[in-house]
Amino acid sequence: GVPVFQKLQQIRRNLPIFSAKRKLIEELRRLDTAIVIGETGSGKTTQLPQYIFEERLHKNMIIAITQPRRVAAITVAQRVAQERGSEPGHVVGHCVRFEDMTSEKTRIKYMTDGMLLREAILDPLLKRYSFVILDEAHERTIHTDVLFGVVKQAQKRRKLRNLLPLKIIIMSATMDVDHFSQFFNKAPVLYLEGRQFPVQVYYSREPQSDYVFAAVVALFQIHREEPADQDVLIFLTGQEEIDSVVRSIHEIAKGMVGDAPPLVVWPLYAALPSHLQLKAFNPAPKGTRKVIVATNIAETSITIHGISFVIDTGVVKAKIFTPRSGLDLLKVVKLSKAQALQRSGRAGREAAGTCYRLYTEEEFQHFPDNTIPEIQRCNLSSVALQLLAMGITDIVNFDFMDKPSTESLIGAVHQLHTLGAVIKENTIKLTATGKRMAAFPLDPKLSKTLLIALELHCLEEVLTIVSMLSVDSVLFTPQRKREEALAVRQKFVSSDGDHITLLNIYKAYKGVKGNKEWCHENFINGRNMSKAMDVRKQLRQICDSQTLAVKSCGQDTSIIRRCLAAGLFMNAAELQREGDVYISLTTREPVHIHPSSALFRCKPACVVYNELVKTSKCYMRDLSVVDPDWLYEAAPAYFKRKKPSKK
Ligand code: ADP
Ligand code: MG
Repeated sequence: GVPVFQKLQQIRRNLPIFSAKRKLIEELRRLDTAIVIGETGSGKTTQLPQYIFEERLHKNMIIAITQPRRVAAITVAQRVAQERGSEPGHVVGHCVRFEDMTSEKTRIKYMTDGMLLREAILDPLLKRYSFVILDEAHERTIHTDVLFGVVKQAQKRRKLRNLLPLKIIIMSATMDVDHFSQFFNKAPVLYLEGRQFPVQVYYSREPQSDYVFAAVVALFQIHREEPADQDVLIFLTGQEEIDSVVRSIHEIAKGMVGDAPPLVVWPLYAALPSHLQLKAFNPAPKGTRKVIVATNIAETSITIHGISFVIDTGVVKAKIFTPRSGLDLLKVVKLSKAQALQRSGRAGREAAGTCYRLYTEEEFQHFPDNTIPEIQRCNLSSVALQLLAMGITDIVNFDFMDKPSTESLIGAVHQLHTLGAVIKENTIKLTATGKRMAAFPLDPKLSKTLLIALELHCLEEVLTIVSMLSVDSVLFTPQRKREEALAVRQKFVSSDGDHITLLNIYKAYKGVKGNKEWCHENFINGRNMSKAMDVRKQLRQICDSQTLAVKSCGQDTSIIRRCLAAGLFMNAAELQREGDVYISLTTREPVHIHPSSALFRCKPACVVYNELVKTSKCYMRDLSVVDPDWLYEAAPAYFKRKKPSKK
């Protein structure tokens, strides 16, 4: 109703950015490129695109605002639509992988950086857009980094052709401004006044061996000593860690009833369904302390009110490239100084606050100043495929803000070559297979798996498996009912591994037409299942548009696993003769089956997997049992020195 709308307008006018509106508009009218810096919560992401729209600077074309995180793109678009009193998907829309909520009317478009890059394949000049705002630029994701070069080139080429100028805005709460300004032809930096209160920072006296334990201890020290209305934000690294900390906090708090105020505890991580994420934003009841246990998602892209204390464990989960294997690994790493500063800043948004750093001051001094860009530490094969599809063949000389090593670029091209996506003549060229692969918004290994499934006539099944792998887990395993959940789901479990198990779940789900009761009884996450159906529909459309015949192999699952072997051969491991340790066929390093796998405690001789996760050990996730001969047949050159052994 009207009162809500008016209240939102009042809130908008109270944001720090509002006092700078006039000046910002003036500058943006004049400049082709600008860098905008302002504290988290000052209103950059939600307001600046609206100002451009309200002042008609966009010339009735689309304003793109990129976000590294999908959740941010979705929730911000919903918020801004609400602020404008309009339906989501009308004037304000969002577009993330497998979810396009935009229409003809959309002028303010929040999207992931990956989506804009994908659009640039079809239209390198980005002709639909008059403004591209690259938000959270400090995160330096691989996609944002490539976009820096792509938008800069589009701007230049539009100017040369006398087309409508493309205006570029680089936005962040924090970053190495000189470096960005240099890259964008000395673009001016516009600073927004923030509201930052002093934050008292305390370091550990001794290095901590167990940061999870230390975080819980720090929380309860605060909880015993400080007023209940002061909320706490704890930074940890990932979902499993967060879920376990939330449980410990609940258990300890139960024992303290009467001695301390009540606690409400909310987890916050990207894989959490958005309706659960939103709980963390609600104020706690009076006399209750709110504790949010979050990943890096809370570092800059999301604003949470009421936080007086931050507990910073000093670590973050990051994708790390392992040059020897050419593969990415998720690994817990130390923060940069800039990140640590952002985290402590979250305690001083509304009043003076306190940050407990669970590391020593000396350790902090050894943190790198800035985060190393993802492009310098990740596998580049997917990006290389996209650049080639955009017609950029000289990848090594592409205008990167920070160049990846020549070695890793060559490695990426080599990987594409191994997958049959490119040929190397005078220049590097996409093959017909490579062009087909680039059409799918998937990791090249999975695109390749689809194309092999086409040849082996099981695209029907493999499309399903790839869709199920492209959404968050469809298994819902509440800790209290863990045994029960595993027992009911046993009927889906295949001794062939997780991929076939996922296929079984999908078939059963379709069999009952997505019945809610069924999902509940079988501990299946219905929301993620219906997402998987939707993803499948979209992948199916891409197949149809390329006239790829979607055929089924019936009950023969070995054909499916043969496809997986032929697409994922770089992710293969074999069992050591003794014990239960596997050895990666690419790196010859030890790897283990993840406890969540259908194959946990089974000891198949040879497996392929989708992902490696490093905690205390290196774990393979999403596995299938394969015959070593399939691997060798799929890529004889790759295995020429290390033919997998047949046992
Ligand atoms: P910045 O990008 O500078 O960090 P934002 O534009 O994201 O700032 O947020 C500005 C303000 O808008 C925040 O202080 C927050 O209160 C409000 N806000 C943003 N997103 C939401 C949301 N999804 N729900 C409620 N409030 C929001
Ligand atoms: Mg923002």
